[in-house]
Amino acid sequence: MQALIVTGQSNHNWQKSSVALKYILDKSELFVTGMAISPAKGNDMSEFVIDFSPYDVVVLDYVGDDWPVQTKNNFVEYVQNGGGVVVYHQSNNAFPDWPAYNEITGLGGWGGRNEASGPYIYIVDGELVRDDSPGRGGSHGRQHEFVVQAFKPDHPILKGLPERWMQAQDELYSELRGPAENLEVLAYAYADKQYGGTGRNEPQLMTITYGQGRIFHTTLGHAGRGNNLPAMESVGFIVTLQRGAEWAATGKVTQKPPKNFPSETESLRWPFFEDIDEGFEDIVKRMQNYQTGMSNDTFIILKHLVAKHGNNPEKISEYNQTIRRLLNSRRTTTDCKQVLLVDFSWMADEQMKPVYEKLLKDPELASNAQFALDRLEN
Ligand code: ZN
Repeated sequence: MQALIVTGQSNHNWQKSSVALKYILDKSELFVTGMAISPAKGNDMSEFVIDFSPYDVVVLDYVGDDWPVQTKNNFVEYVQNGGGVVVYHQSNNAFPDWPAYNEITGLGGWGGRNEASGPYIYIVDGELVRDDSPGRGGSHGRQHEFVVQAFKPDHPILKGLPERWMQAQDELYSELRGPAENLEVLAYAYADKQYGGTGRNEPQLMTITYGQGRIFHTTLGHAGRGNNLPAMESVGFIVTLQRGAEWAATGKVTQKPPKNFPSETESLRWPFFEDIDEGFEDIVKRMQNYQTGMSNDTFIILKHLVAKHGNNPEKISEYNQTIRRLLNSRRTTTDCKQVLLVDFSWMADEQMKPVYEKLLKDPELASNAQFALDRLEN
């Protein structure tokens, strides 16, 4: 199946989260995952037109400037016609003033949300409460590990998983507000006042239906500035995301629950890419032969390496050097160059400029080279 991550602007570390989401989805072996990366914040968005119709699931990892009207309309139409959506963590902060988006995401936080946005939803004594009382929408206390408690353990996304499991260190999203129509809470977590929480059972995993579309909403998976992604490496987050994405795409879940799953008292992490045993040069060689439709894991690996070494300028300069080498080589496929121009231009240094300029002369690469140059200059 085809998945698309929409990203490129965020109040979080989208460069890392989008790569991790792609890795997680591809790792399910159900999805081939692409990315739509928007222009940087404050730039002309008019070209950011997305046709969602080829995709089985669209994963939202975006908080930022308004999409062009065409993209907004395409998105609503896609969901209405049965498209699957995964709402990931901070993407429920986006577009507070776009009613259809808020109906699709069900609940959201920040961005001026308040009682006009819709009720608070929480669980008291096993019953779901809709609370219209006035107040802000969106909060979280200090990051900590917390127990995720199934509310609908028989839902296909949760069926077969333990009913209580420990999420690795994460933000516990609370006080979300939204239309919450056709919304089902699958799991919640107790926001302990000890960590600055609300003292309520706050929804964490949800489903929403909109038209014919199915939406899986996970508030989990905070990706911050550091190189550490405990919340995204948390097995509970990963597995529910994979299962939620499949459910959003098909209405069913065929994935078997993993053998190792966090217990109620101990979180469990799958550090990304620990299973990679090939050397960097082998990865580069495979990347050089990349053609559309082939596994794009080499790009994912490079992105992960970039994210991991993001605060080491020497390493980043080394990766840029490798990218220059690939872009300059006639042995590198056009498809590989296309990906390098689009997905890696945000980290380019000044030495990349002449390489991009040279590629402007290649008719097949000109538009992506222009995109890369625009990114470099902004
Ligand atoms: Zn966060």
